[in-house]
Amino acid sequence: MKRIVALLLAVILIVSLVGCGNQTENEEESDENTEEGAEVNNNPQDTKPKTDAEPKTAVDLILEKTGGKIYGVCHPNENYMRLKDVGLGWVRFDIPYPYEADGRTIRSEYTQFKNRAREYTKNKFKVMAITPYPKDFMDIGGYDPGDSANAARVREIVVFLINDLRDVIAGMQISNELNHTGHIRPFTTLQQSADFIGLQAKALYDVRGDIIVGYNSAGYSESWTNLMKPYLKYMDYVALDLYYGTYDNGTLQNYVNDINKLYRLVNKPILMAEFGYASKGSPTAEDRAAKLARYGYASEAEARADIVNLVEQLPNTFKTLIKTNYPNTADWANAVFVTYANHFYGYNKRIPADSWIDVDLAEENITHDEEGQANYFRQLIPLLMEQKCLIGFFIYCWKDRTWCLTCGYDDCPNETSWGLVDDSGNRKKPSYYAVKEAIAACKEQDAVT
Ligand SMILES: [Zn+2]
Repeated sequence: MKRIVALLLAVILIVSLVGCGNQTENEEESDENTEEGAEVNNNPQDTKPKTDAEPKTAVDLILEKTGGKIYGVCHPNENYMRLKDVGLGWVRFDIPYPYEADGRTIRSEYTQFKNRAREYTKNKFKVMAITPYPKDFMDIGGYDPGDSANAARVREIVVFLINDLRDVIAGMQISNELNHTGHIRPFTTLQQSADFIGLQAKALYDVRGDIIVGYNSAGYSESWTNLMKPYLKYMDYVALDLYYGTYDNGTLQNYVNDINKLYRLVNKPILMAEFGYASKGSPTAEDRAAKLARYGYASEAEARADIVNLVEQLPNTFKTLIKTNYPNTADWANAVFVTYANHFYGYNKRIPADSWIDVDLAEENITHDEEGQANYFRQLIPLLMEQKCLIGFFIYCWKDRTWCLTCGYDDCPNETSWGLVDDSGNRKKPSYYAVKEAIAACKEQDAVT
């Protein structure tokens, strides 16, 4: 028995040291067995009684449900032939809140979603469907989903969705990036976000059937993940959205590191729910000065001093974003010139003197242009898929946009230049071919393992 205990401890140590990247099949088996082993080993951290409710959702069990690794894309269009040409088998988009304010009448937006999902399914794609945001419950449903008095209604909605969509979706992501404070309205704390996700995951657990259910996070966060810990037992997967090189400082290795760190924390199959790289966005000092001059300011200090007037002149999307998220005008200058400075000036986290400086993917020769974007996918996709805990990914995204979703500027590179095809949908960018080649190589690898 002592030898078994020693062996188990050694395996636990190996797994915790190497994360999921170098995990062999044997280690995966041992990993699953650590719960049983915990009762006989002497490590105090492992002697806590485990509840019977904790399911064992190993990567291969999930892959049986999904029919293999997930190669997907966000915001697809209906060009099924091209999506298939790239090797994409999954698409990911939002489920609108299903009911009108009366709580009974189905919204036309929801019916459109369902029809759209059905068409993808008919065309042999699998749909990862994102359940409504908390604000949708408030703005459309007319009630605060964080109020415990409304918990039953929130459960009812999500159970309705999974039952109603069962034939047209293959995966569910509970809301989106609810550790991102810009997404949590009307909540004011991440604990409320965690409870909102957990409440729905628990309601879905027994009725989900073959549909995989999980949640995603904007970036890796240990404190946020710890808030989610009580609810992990209801999750088939845990997903990460990572944007190193565009929205965050970092290198390709940061992606691998975060996947491994998350896996060690949650011991669940990991999904990349979003990742990508903007193919433009490096304004010069002159470009930035011109943006200020457009509003009549000679310097950022001048604009800050006149921030209320400036916000009034911003594109409607930007103005609404600032006013909604920052009720106090005293916070507006930092909102525009720190939090959303990349949108105001139209750059991809490269402006000096803010928290996003020193974006450095130079070692991999990656720049913010179309070739750089292709290089990013060419190098990162194989690296990601070496991680044995990863069940797949969704590339962000299929098509460029003509204006930025966050700020509304048509000259903002954020959220406009992430596509594998251009904004018309016609021109294949270099990233299209890079992703196609990388996925083909991954599938060859999948076939032999
Ligand atoms: Zn923008």
